[in-house]
Amino acid sequence: MSKTSEKNLLPLDIVRFRDESKAVIDFIADYYKNIEKYPVQSRVEPGYLSSVLPDSAPYSPDSLDEVLNDVSESILPGLTHWQSPSFFAYYQASSSTAGFLGEMLCSAFNVVGFTWFSSPAATELESIVLDWMGKMLRLPSSFLFSGTGGGVIHGTTCEAVVCTLAAARDKALKELGGDWEKITKFVVYASDQTHFTFQKAAKLVGIPPSNFRFLQTSFATKFAMSPELLRSAIEDDIQSGLVPLYICATVGTTACGAVDPIAELGQVANEYKLWLHIDAAHAGSACICPEFRHFLDGVELASSLSMNPHKWFLTNMDCCCLWLKEPHFLIDSLSYNPEYLENNPTKSNVVVDYKDWQVTLSRRFRALKLWIVIRRHGVENLMHHIRSDVELAKQFEALITEDERFEIVVPRRIVLVFFRLKPKHGLDGNELNRKLLDAINSSGRAFLTQGVVAGIYAIRCVVGATLTEERHMKDLWSLILEKARFILHQCSQ
Ligand SMILES: *Cc1c(COP(=O)(O)O)cnc(C)c1O
Repeated sequence: MSKTSEKNLLPLDIVRFRDESKAVIDFIADYYKNIEKYPVQSRVEPGYLSSVLPDSAPYSPDSLDEVLNDVSESILPGLTHWQSPSFFAYYQASSSTAGFLGEMLCSAFNVVGFTWFSSPAATELESIVLDWMGKMLRLPSSFLFSGTGGGVIHGTTCEAVVCTLAAARDKALKELGGDWEKITKFVVYASDQTHFTFQKAAKLVGIPPSNFRFLQTSFATKFAMSPELLRSAIEDDIQSGLVPLYICATVGTTACGAVDPIAELGQVANEYKLWLHIDAAHAGSACICPEFRHFLDGVELASSLSMNPHKWFLTNMDCCCLWLKEPHFLIDSLSYNPEYLENNPTKSNVVVDYKDWQVTLSRRFRALKLWIVIRRHGVENLMHHIRSDVELAKQFEALITEDERFEIVVPRRIVLVFFRLKPKHGLDGNELNRKLLDAINSSGRAFLTQGVVAGIYAIRCVVGATLTEERHMKDLWSLILEKARFILHQCSQ
């Protein structure tokens, strides 16, 4: 296609839309078909892209062919292939056909459902799908719209933590007579394994960093938060004239997959009247299976709970579900009502306006995506999806355990296998495993990341990419053995 033929390109021409969208779908299907051929972790050097792309925008339109060609030639090499079946790093962002279709529809309608009035279906579907999801997790009715609570879909956990912290802060400030100076007295609690998102959020809502308490964890509790330490920290802070405010508990920590004891932490929270938030970003997905639901036992004692369907629930980025027992605290904290956003006045008392449940005003119709993922799989297949990944993780863990050169550093709770090569030849174990991980990742055949607990550097293998099958786990194990042999040999020289 020549440039001149596109001179009068209409931004939304139906014929062109149909043709070009189909071409892009074909491009995507080929990408998935060939995904195993790419090195999983990108190998480019910083700044690589500016050396291959022009340094200013085209004045006349480029054709779709030219653009897709550049995506293949210039963009793909700079991607780390998160959808590769050999991606075992971080926590995955799992995608699916249903998730993709949901994103397409969301993008197609492109509605901005900040108030009920601005697109009633966007708001109502979100409330319905949160109740569906909440019931799948067997949350008590105090978290559901059909009960006395409710929920919202945010983009990420970070936003959910910021918003619940703001709600807890404003609730406490009100109880203290609205004196904002008191903000310097608030104390927040988490374990030393809690995601850094929590510190960022606490700082954003004005909690002084000197009032962050990171309770120490250890091998003795498999790196779970200790309710005793929590209680004594709270007591100490009260003694010092401070005001304990908020606890962030985690189901499935990021480094090693630890699970905090929700029921016991909940008792402490209720006794001292603190806000307890449960961050189940990754592991929350597993809790739809009855055999993993016990990780959430005690959830009825919490004030809020969040999990990310975009991690392990086949829902393409982004999607974070947040449920609250008393959503009005969130609304009290975050709502402003300018005249230009007035709902139809006759309805404003009975509807949800999600702008009051989040940081931003504008919001995507994410509920559509989660709704389609749930409907197209059914709870049955979603449970199967979780269980088959857990099975693969179990088998992988068994391989590690049976090989005396390796050890499991923290026992697997769900799908995170946290392992390392045992220190040998008087070598520093951390250095040895850093080398091993580097050798594995530079091969391009798999991508894993590391975690450090109690000063021990270990390798994290998370099973959860949508396309991962048994054969990829076998390939991973051969790769690890090959690189371990090489490194051990090198070190024994
Ligand atoms: C991934 C993760 C987060 C951060 O999630 P975002 O949605 O990227 O903000 C927080 N906590 C835990 C336990 C996680 O696994």
